[in-house]
This record gives sequence, C-alpha cells and structure tokens, in this order.
Amino acid sequence: MQIPGQIDPVPIPRDITPRDDGRIDLLGLSQIQIRDILLEAELPEKQAKLRSKQLFHWIYHRGAVDFSVMTDISKTMRPWMEERFIIGRPEVIEEPISEDGTRKWLLRSDDGQDYEMVFIPDADRGTLCVSSQVGCTLNCRFCHTGTMRLVRNLTPGEIVGQVMLARDALGEWPKGNMHIENDQYEDEDSGYQRSDGRMLTNIVMMGMGEPLYNFDNVRDALSVVMDSAGLALSKRRITLSTSGVVPKMAQAGAEIGVNLAVSLHATSKEVRDEIVPLNRKYGIEELLQACADYPGANNARRITFEYVMLKGKNDSNEDARELVRLLKHYNLPAKVNLIPFNPWPGSQYECSEPQRIRAFSNIIFEAGISAPIRTPRGRDIMAACGQLKSASEKKSRAELDRLAEEKQVALEAET
Ligand code: SAH
Ligand code: SF4
Repeated sequence: MQIPGQIDPVPIPRDITPRDDGRIDLLGLSQIQIRDILLEAELPEKQAKLRSKQLFHWIYHRGAVDFSVMTDISKTMRPWMEERFIIGRPEVIEEPISEDGTRKWLLRSDDGQDYEMVFIPDADRGTLCVSSQVGCTLNCRFCHTGTMRLVRNLTPGEIVGQVMLARDALGEWPKGNMHIENDQYEDEDSGYQRSDGRMLTNIVMMGMGEPLYNFDNVRDALSVVMDSAGLALSKRRITLSTSGVVPKMAQAGAEIGVNLAVSLHATSKEVRDEIVPLNRKYGIEELLQACADYPGANNARRITFEYVMLKGKNDSNEDARELVRLLKHYNLPAKVNLIPFNPWPGSQYECSEPQRIRAFSNIIFEAGISAPIRTPRGRDIMAACGQLKSASEKKSRAELDRLAEEKQVALEAET
C-alpha cells in the first residue's frame, strides 16, 4: 500500500501468483479465500464451504502438498482439484547449515526474485526469521538488505510459504492416518504430534524488508499463520520488527496484534537521521509516542527496542543514559536488544568492542530495563537476521548514498 508522503517504488503486490499452467496456488490463502475460489470454480455453496475447511486443514495443519493424500475428500473430487489448483512451496536455491545449528534458506520466487529465511534453534525455542520484501527501500546505513537493488513486496503465499517450508524441513507436520468415512470432515487430533516439543516455536518478521511497508500482505499472511485451524502459532510468539513506520503502527496493533520490536539504534536526531534515514520523516519522539500508544503493550508483553552497536557512533555511556531517559520519559514497557553489528563487504561501520557493549548494557540494566546482548548466530553462513545476503545485484555504497539523497529530496518536496 502507498504510504502518504512516502516514495514507494514497490510494485502493487499480487495476491495470488499467476502460473503458466493456469492453476491457482492455494499456498497463503485463508479459508475464506479458498472458499471463494471454489465458488468461482462453480462448486455449490455448501460444498465450497466444506471443501475449503478441509483444504485449509490439510494445507496448514498437516502440510499436505498433494490432493491425493486428502482422504476425507472423495476420490472423484481430488483429480478435479488437482486440475485447477496446486499447493506450492517457495523454490529453494541454497540451504546452508551453520556449525551452531542455524539454518538459512535462499529462496527464489516465480518471477526470479531472491529472498531469505533463517531458522535459529535455541535450547527452549526455535525462531524463524521471516522476510517481508525482496530488498528494502529504506537504506539504513548499516544494513545489507538496504543495498539490494531490486525491491518487491512478498505475497502472502511467499510469506506463509517460508513458515511452511521450515515446517517441511524440520519434519514438523503431524503424522498418522486420517481415514474418515463417508467423505465427512472431522478433526482427529488425538494421537497426533502436538505443538509441544516442536522446534519451530517463534516467528520474527526481521528478515529482509520493512513489514509495515507491505502491511496488507504481512497482516494477511500472519492471520493465516495464527489461524487455530492451521499452523496455529500464538500472536505472543510472533514479533514484528519495524524501523519506525509511525503511521502504520497503531493499525499494526489493531489488525495484527503481535509483539512489537522497534529498530531504534540511536538516541539523537543527528545520529538516527544518518543511520536510519526514515527518521528524517518520523522522528524519535513521534516514534516513541507511537510505541507508548501501541495496543497490548504492557509489562507482560514489552516492546523490544533493537539497538545495533556501532563503534564510536551510538555506543557511548551518554547514549545508554539517554536511551534510559527516553524509555522512562515515555513510560514504555521496554526491553532493549543490543545487537553486535554484523559487518558485510563494503559496510562503513565497525562493531563496538565487547567491553563497550557490556558497559552499555550494564547502564540500562542498572536502570531496571533488561538489555541482553544478542549472540551472533550463523556467522559462518552469513545468516544473521538483518544481514541477509542475496545473489541479487547490489549497488555500490556511493550509488546508494546518491539514491538515498535523491529519495530524501523528493520526500521533502512532497511533505
Ligand atoms: N525492516 C525491519 C525488519 C528487518 S531488519 C527493521 O528495520 O526493523 C531486522 C533487524 O536487523 C533490525 O533491527 C535491523 O536494524 C537489524 N540489522 C540490519 N542490519 C544489521 C547488521 N548489519 N548488523 C546487525 N543488525 C542489523
Ligand atoms: Fe530496511 Fe530494516 Fe534494513 Fe533498514 S534495517 S534497510 S528498514 S531491512
């Protein structure tokens, strides 16, 4: 969707990826969308309703990719479906595994765009870092994704597809038979693998792209992911990270309702303007006020403030104290996530020294705010979120700076 005042070169996203063979890919569609498609294919209304419920269950609860396994759908109906529909998955180009267990997938869309997802296993959880766009229009100075030339919104199918693919790879679909007599739909969960003990427990929208610049698709995708008849991930286990698209934050709270993470990264206008150029449009005060107004944020569900540690740029004791002052001033239920900067070829910053990061963290902790230091994961496969590497064409830093300037001039002219 077009953000008022924002130059948004992202092409209008397609809800359903068109296919050469004319079949419709059901991946990423809600039960209602599936029902509407069945109605369009001229199934009578009652049938369409029942079949959509069955399909939704098979696709998202069981991970089926083939209509022939859908034993509660009649044998004549299954080939009818197969002629018209498919249940797709993103194409995998590479899937390296790090020595620390972190896994990355380089994926390719039907129109040849590359994007990535990363799975980070921990003792008590497994987090999938999901991308919302190919590239990003926002050009944060320390971020590799911002250097990518191509930008396109991912469709709900491509977003949900990442979760589905991770479930496939981790072997996490319920097993067992589902033989149901008389073509009747029935949910037989007993005896099946339950969600406890699963590896994929959490999702963070922290891969490539700015999720709030692809609002509708991210909302629709997460609603499918949270649907209790399918993947059934709780909103408490999903976190959406934004660089601060203030006008969309209240809507995100109301319509998506997941945990919020905000990429703050600086405490002064001067520094944030430089490293997160969106700050020139939506400043720190406005951003923190939007956080204070975010529905559902409380001490049990705190807002995460991400803070990338850049040597000599944003890592002084004064910065830490100012950060505390700001968070207290807005009375924010906050935790701070200190992220050691992950350098990439051509990046112009360095990561702060470990003892500097610890000192910074201590100041925040002493003020009663949790400030863990994020352990870098999967560095050997360049897998850290926010440093997603892609085969897509890159621009040089100088060219990027020039583009960012041009964008800024255009922005200022508009507002
Ligand atoms: N666009 C959203 C979400 C994707 S970026 C956002 O900016 O919040 C996810 C996180 O990774 C952000 O906090 C981002 O600032 C951080 N990040 C980006 N590049 C990084 C790098 N090179 N090193 C460490 N963190 C980085
Ligand atoms: Fe985009 Fe987030 Fe990277 Fe900034 S940090 S360029 S908003 S992906």
